[in-house]
Amino acid sequence: MRSSKLLLISLSIILIIFSYGCKDSPKERVTEETETVVEEVSERIPIQEKTQSKSEDDSKESRETDNEFTPVVMSVLASPTPVKGSDGRFHFVYELLVTNAYKLDFEIVSVEVLDGDQNEKVLTSFSGQKVSKKMQLVGTRAPIDSLQPGQAGIIFMTFAVDTINDIPTNVIHRIAVTVPGGIPSRLVELLQLPPGQEQIIETGGIAKVGNADAIVLGPPLEGSGWVVVNGCCDSTTHIRSIQPVNGKLYLAQRFAIDWMKINKDSRLFVGDPKDVNSYFGFGQNVLAVAHARVAGVVDKFKNQIPGELPTEITFEEIDGNHVVLDLGNGQYVFYAHLQPNSIIVKEGNTVKRGQAIGKLGNTGNTSAPHLHLHVMASPSTLGSNGLPYVFDQFDLMGRTTDESFFDEGLEDPTPIEGIDKAEIIEGTPIKIEPVDKPGLHSAEFPLDLRIVEFPSVSN
Ligand SMILES: [Zn+2]
Repeated sequence: MRSSKLLLISLSIILIIFSYGCKDSPKERVTEETETVVEEVSERIPIQEKTQSKSEDDSKESRETDNEFTPVVMSVLASPTPVKGSDGRFHFVYELLVTNAYKLDFEIVSVEVLDGDQNEKVLTSFSGQKVSKKMQLVGTRAPIDSLQPGQAGIIFMTFAVDTINDIPTNVIHRIAVTVPGGIPSRLVELLQLPPGQEQIIETGGIAKVGNADAIVLGPPLEGSGWVVVNGCCDSTTHIRSIQPVNGKLYLAQRFAIDWMKINKDSRLFVGDPKDVNSYFGFGQNVLAVAHARVAGVVDKFKNQIPGELPTEITFEEIDGNHVVLDLGNGQYVFYAHLQPNSIIVKEGNTVKRGQAIGKLGNTGNTSAPHLHLHVMASPSTLGSNGLPYVFDQFDLMGRTTDESFFDEGLEDPTPIEGIDKAEIIEGTPIKIEPVDKPGLHSAEFPLDLRIVEFPSVSN
């Protein structure tokens, strides 16, 4: 069954190999946002005076004696912004960049996320072997729990709080590291560690939490049987697809979903698995999720043969046929892998919510028909900050626990030799289990592997 995991796409898998520039660089605007965050935090968080964030505000007067030596440097890639999931909880998905800025190896023992307002309240923590499940070396998908001198890793934070009142105004991070062979006396002195302490404990990476009022979208698709694939928050395919673009690290796909359709028998397709027409999602109308301006259209690629990811694909072709909608307020929606010649809007057009803009297809870096959808902070599909969003209405029908059917293998795009992945799932319905809160959901983000029905749209 494992090999069938590979059947699905992911834009992100190959994207990590590539990087490209974009016409509309988001660089300046994002930089401004980041600086704003730091400034606001510096005024509100007394603890900052004891953390790394102090060094981000060098313009303020400070005396040398106030400085704290921090051999591990931490920062967040973008302001953490929680979203209300279909389980009613508020989910955080963000990244902590950790750099070893010293000349010794550091092993990471534990990581804690703290409420920046209630200093000791731990929002989530992990240690030991769980560190490497959360951390990768920058530029790779290699799990790590240690950093050599000069190395930087990214810790992928995914956790939830129960209610909106539990959302902190700020988060800070506490990390404990050890030095193989013990902390040398020079470093003990620099850090002013008490005698016998064998761990270096630092607090940093302070960040203001973004507004939980997520962008509200209308349905991107119609009808029932839509499965959330590679969604929030344990799936790693989109959530770890960090790209170095325009001189910065971006995660445009932080809240991306690959939408796939099953029929009443919970099958993805019937017939020839190598024919796009066999898939129930193929050819379904893709809808404008809001009144918007069309910011970009590409419609020139052919469908891929389903069953495996294309082996030879150009950088330009990765997204396949796609549409970018400008919602205003620096918010853009990205629809990828659309059917050839199906896009009925042009750049500069205005569209109304619920209007069909194209048809679900299998173009670009995809191994089965699906709609890749995400919201981002610029028109650049890679060089953007991925934003959370909710759908104003959907029915939650169930969830599949058959994760192997869709997901984990996507972390590793390497084909499994000698196995025809398409054959494995032919005729096999996915397993569906009940959910805690079935029925109508409003203003929530459907979580991974949930199956939803979208309302019909009358044009
Ligand atoms: Zn995708």
